[in-house]
Amino acid sequence: MACDQYSCSLTAPLLDIAAGRASLADIWAKTPPVTTRAALLYTSWVAFQVLLYTMLPDFCHRFLPGYVGGVQEGAVTPAGAVNKYQVNGLQAWLITHLLWFANSHLLSWFPPTIIFDNWIPLLWCANFLGYTVSTFAMIKGYFFPTNAEDCKFTGNFFYNYMMGIEFNPRLGKWFDFKLFFNGRPGIVAWTLINLSFAAKQQELYGQVTNSMVLVNVLQAMYVLDFFWNETWYLKTIDICHDHFGWYLGWGDCVWLPYLYTLQGLYLVYHPVQLSTHHAVAVLLLGLLGYYIFRMANHQKDLFRRTDGRCLIWGRKPKAIECVYTSADGQKHHSKLLVSGFWGVARHFNYTGDLMGSLAYCLACGGGHLLPYFYIIYMTILLTHRCLRDEHRCASKYGRDWQRYTAAVPYRLLPGVF
Ligand code: NDP
Repeated sequence: MACDQYSCSLTAPLLDIAAGRASLADIWAKTPPVTTRAALLYTSWVAFQVLLYTMLPDFCHRFLPGYVGGVQEGAVTPAGAVNKYQVNGLQAWLITHLLWFANSHLLSWFPPTIIFDNWIPLLWCANFLGYTVSTFAMIKGYFFPTNAEDCKFTGNFFYNYMMGIEFNPRLGKWFDFKLFFNGRPGIVAWTLINLSFAAKQQELYGQVTNSMVLVNVLQAMYVLDFFWNETWYLKTIDICHDHFGWYLGWGDCVWLPYLYTLQGLYLVYHPVQLSTHHAVAVLLLGLLGYYIFRMANHQKDLFRRTDGRCLIWGRKPKAIECVYTSADGQKHHSKLLVSGFWGVARHFNYTGDLMGSLAYCLACGGGHLLPYFYIIYMTILLTHRCLRDEHRCASKYGRDWQRYTAAVPYRLLPGVF
């Protein structure tokens, strides 16, 4: 609403309210309502993604060298189950974007500005889906869970609703809520939303600024990386440790597509053209952040996959041997990597992610606070996630974790935190 009514200024609406020139009710009254067009658009969008997810087994892994897709196994759940997943996100992303470009350049079924033009009406639809899926997941957890042994009931209704009861809710054999909602429709939409913002700039100003190109390119890299590594993603915290509730359900439907795309939205209202030096600096920061993020994640993945029989930075990796007990009382062995980026800080992958996030924001210049939301939010999210993860690892590995923290004393930034 700050963007829609106040050209993305956060202070102008507050000053208006403070000076009595407007009230929250006035701002609310000017907010576009849901429309039939937006509802139809959103329903078709989600239905199309469901179709791509459920009906089209992956064929990308057959011809893309190095890409791992198709039927893959997730990590062992706390109750000892191993789920199978149909990994076909890259294919869904490619088909969706091919259709988008075919429409923009050949078919002209709808204008490429369609997402921007229906932005707030679509927000209501996304909220409807977000709350419906979270509520459904809650009811399902109580009455017909997919795997009852993996459910978590805390005794606090609101906590259960927010953080989820079921670990891996599914409909039928293949429709996995976490994999679907985490990746599609939100992350597939991310790049389309940015393209729609770029198209709006073109329509309004007759050109697309270099800042908009940077935001589109850097974020597209991040999104493509996500889908290229979707199988690896099955082993990350969201899938391996979090339960599915409002935090993931609503977050994936509303928070991610609406707040991760604020830079592009801002640039529609403020078409910033960066100097070449500024643009190159932003690009380099974005690429360096991405490199650290990807390499750190790759090093841990390689190390775990090969059980340490690999080279990291040209050397045999150093590791800490750990023992832990799962919920079923069984003892397991694991290893914590102390080489490469995992020897620099305990979550240097998050540091790389934060550098990339800062680059998106810096692409928007220094005129307003709103496009900096992303770096502020990511810093809070990843710091909290780091502490949450370390708390879990400390109770999982006990003394072995203490040995790791003694060997690698810093979390995100050596010498600072
Ligand atoms: P990590 O990939 O860092 O996984 C943490 C887990 O890795 C720990 O729970 C532990 O699991 C294992 N581990 C920790 N230290 C070591 C070590 N030294 N050696 C081997 N294994 C170790 O975290 P996430 O799943 O949160 O993040 C994955 C990526 O996704 C990150 O790069 C993050 O930046 C990104 N991300 C982005 C988000 C966004 O909104 N843009 C949101 C969330 C994540 P185990 O129990 O197996 O030992």
